[in-house]
Amino acid sequence: MSTTLTKTDAAYQLCMSPQCAATFGIDEILTTCPECGNLLDLSYNWDQVAVPSSLRDFEARWSTRTNPLDFSGVWRFRELIPFAPEDKIVTIGEGQTILQQSDRVGQFVDVNSGNLHLQYEGLNPSGSFKDNGMTGASTHARMMGAKAAACASTGNTSASLAIYASTAQLFEVVVFVGSGKIAFGKLSQALDFGAKTIQIQGDFDDAMAQVREVCGQRSIYLCNSVNPFRLEGQKSTIYRVLEGLNWEPPDWIVVPGGNLGNSSAFGKALRELKELRLIDRIPRMAVINAAGANSLYELHEERGLRWNNGDVDDALIESFYDEMDRAERRASTLATAIEINRPVSLKRCLRALAITDGVVRQVSDEQILDAKAQIGGGGFGCEPASAASVAGAKQLRAEGVIAPSDRVVCILTGHQLKDPNATVAYHSSEAGAIDAKLSDAGVDSVAFPNRPVPVENEIEKILEILD
Ligand SMILES: *Cc1c(COP(=O)(O)O)cnc(C)c1O
Ligand SMILES: [Zn+2]
Repeated sequence: MSTTLTKTDAAYQLCMSPQCAATFGIDEILTTCPECGNLLDLSYNWDQVAVPSSLRDFEARWSTRTNPLDFSGVWRFRELIPFAPEDKIVTIGEGQTILQQSDRVGQFVDVNSGNLHLQYEGLNPSGSFKDNGMTGASTHARMMGAKAAACASTGNTSASLAIYASTAQLFEVVVFVGSGKIAFGKLSQALDFGAKTIQIQGDFDDAMAQVREVCGQRSIYLCNSVNPFRLEGQKSTIYRVLEGLNWEPPDWIVVPGGNLGNSSAFGKALRELKELRLIDRIPRMAVINAAGANSLYELHEERGLRWNNGDVDDALIESFYDEMDRAERRASTLATAIEINRPVSLKRCLRALAITDGVVRQVSDEQILDAKAQIGGGGFGCEPASAASVAGAKQLRAEGVIAPSDRVVCILTGHQLKDPNATVAYHSSEAGAIDAKLSDAGVDSVAFPNRPVPVENEIEKILEILD
């Protein structure tokens, strides 16, 4: 049914392996390259797109916000994501997110005053950055006339897909989640938005493997980040970061790494902006793993795995995963959104690290939760995974990799209310009596608890506490 487009079309799918470089039309539903099995990217013939000559030109859309495409924090940059006819775009007002400077968090990280910025993606309609991408995937699903869509998820992807399906009413949704660890804020969203929710007896990596199989067998549209249209939407975080900095690139962008879709999209966005001469300098990127789910860290920092112009050492990856399986090692962290041991966008992320002269670090759950408390104290509520960015920035600063004078942007990927249990467990912990949820996860001290104060229901007693 599909007609394969050629490179003369403005947008096409391109195998991410430069050694293969097979191309496919955007009217084909593919999750991997049929020739070589690698993932696909969207690619553009930019000379056929009306790209503005300066990023500042996008500011004209601030005054035309009654147009839903100009209101969207993704699609007001649509010339940089040019795969969709405007009448097919599915938007629910995603990307109304803010970049804010925080000296409180800056002091914690130990950079100079004015240099630490938080990009708060928790303000998206479903409370995480996943909406930036899901508007892209939903748009392509609509272009293809898909009747059903699915994803595997640690929680936020399913919440996001569910909100798009329920708002757009264009397709049915099935979400696959693992058992046990899903944060209740996220599960409650999938259920409330009416998605068929399948809880597999396994973890995210198991759910991911099953959903790929199911989508293949039943022709269901797959919305995980293997989907290149999703990654296109996720590029927009970078555009908004630049916008928030008056179009001046920062020195560092620090992002948590789970399935590695976001970091991959960031690298692609930055490379494209540089090639289009819309920025003159590419910031460095730091991708932060949780220590309990640190495949990227292990491979990139400990074993020297590199993008190597697309000639990636597959044998090294395979032997690492074999080792992991033999040791029966499963991903384990309180930062459930990044509790992933087999990141599907691993190679894309290696490429992004090459583009950005990037680094990878791992941080413990203790570091993550302490950073989260500092972020909260600065007025930004985020979920544990998001705080890995700030914990990672602090570590890189302590190592001297980040300088005090560097301008640093940490991405806060998801909202605080996604996982209130983690927050309450942290703040309720007494010294020497850490909440069971935390101690089970190996956290045995908390640095910044704000403990609730129990008191009898008597005014005298209450006043005593306040004195
Ligand atoms: C999905 C998610 C991540 C991980 O992003 P990847 O693109 O999978 O690396 C981090 N934080 C939150 C809140 C998420 O929802
Ligand atoms: Zn290929």
